[in-house]
Amino acid sequence: MARDNGDGLAAIAGRIGVLGSVALNIVALAIYLRGRAAAEKQASKKVKKAAAVAPSSGKPPVACDSVINLDHGDPTMFEPFWRGPIGESATLVIPGWQTMSYFSDVGNLCWFLEPSFEREVRRLHRLVGNAAVEGYHVLVGTGSSQLFQAALYALAPPTADTPLSVVSTTPFYSMYPPLTDFLSSGLYRWAGDANTFDGDDYIEVVCSPSNPDGSIREAVLKSKSGKDIHDLAYYWPQYTPITQMLAHDIMLFTVSKCTGHAGTRIGWALVKDKEVAQKMSKFMEQSTIGVCKDAQLRAAKVLGAVTDGYEHQLATAAGGDANLLFHYARRKMAHRWCALRAAVAASGIFSLPNEVAGFCTFTKDTVTSNPAFAWLRCEKQEVEDLESFLRENKIITRSGTKFGADQKVVRISMVDTDEAFGIFVNRLAAIK
Ligand code: PMP
Repeated sequence: MARDNGDGLAAIAGRIGVLGSVALNIVALAIYLRGRAAAEKQASKKVKKAAAVAPSSGKPPVACDSVINLDHGDPTMFEPFWRGPIGESATLVIPGWQTMSYFSDVGNLCWFLEPSFEREVRRLHRLVGNAAVEGYHVLVGTGSSQLFQAALYALAPPTADTPLSVVSTTPFYSMYPPLTDFLSSGLYRWAGDANTFDGDDYIEVVCSPSNPDGSIREAVLKSKSGKDIHDLAYYWPQYTPITQMLAHDIMLFTVSKCTGHAGTRIGWALVKDKEVAQKMSKFMEQSTIGVCKDAQLRAAKVLGAVTDGYEHQLATAAGGDANLLFHYARRKMAHRWCALRAAVAASGIFSLPNEVAGFCTFTKDTVTSNPAFAWLRCEKQEVEDLESFLRENKIITRSGTKFGADQKVVRISMVDTDEAFGIFVNRLAAIK
């Protein structure tokens, strides 16, 4: 009986054990299934999120209630042009065996400069007539940002007791101070507004047309021992009439603002003096062992397509501007400035720099300038910090304080997508 009882208890215990194990398995399965469902939901969310980002801009599309970010000068405005007939001719295929070597032309002072890129740079400047290329060395950089730093390195004496002062007229491009002081170089340091600088030794950075306010600038300091860097990122016909062929000692350009291919990260410098060119080249050699050859080939293709578009138009006398980058972009910029000025008038609390016009030697007509940025001031007394005020209205801009100016002014990109720009002007017009 006792055995029977013992067996019975053992059997009951066994059944409980089986039931417990089944229950545990069911709970584990439920947890697993719930976890998998959550993971799948998360993954599908990620896929949806990734799909929502436009491949060429890396940003999601905007809707009428979105925050509109016009802080950066991201030139996505040009995309529709490159989706047109010219875009096809700028397509590039690079076979697996190509561009493998570090070198592009061992005989060149700038040994990592792709010959086709140099050729297209010279060809484009000859077409537009904005900068002299005869007697100049062409250098390539990872964006003109790298070339700016290379120029500082090349112009600053290597053995001076104190760092050389780097100045620029206020309002200056907001990246000059951090680019100059980023590594706390012993060779040079940021010294602010060129207008208040006192001394004979300096590097003056002249940005013309100016980022942020679009004004045409010249060097304000005239000492014999002073050096200049001319940043001509915006000296192209869509932004300003080309009034003369510039021939400064160091001139910086970038495909970012010329054609809109900011992501290709290619800039170039035209440098008169051989020794300065050699030192700048050395900077690129030391910092990145040259500049991406694939990106240079792409930039060459893009610049070549722009020049070809004009040469083809001249040869065939065809109408329209679908093949003419500068004409297309200028027309769009002019529309945008018209819309912005109308919005500012409708609001009544803002002001913009006056419109300026000039004769463009490239297009052979008198045109207004259409800066890549709007330098917007608030005239309303109560608004002290315009950047914060606009942020409350879901418009992201860059405060004047970053450019050496005051808080009642901001810089706004004029080169973003049509959709973002349209929402921005409507919103601005409604602010009272
Ligand atoms: N200079 C100026 C005046 C600019 O506005 C910019 C880009 N915002 C640059 C240089 C840098 O251009 P990149 O993209 O070639 O580095």
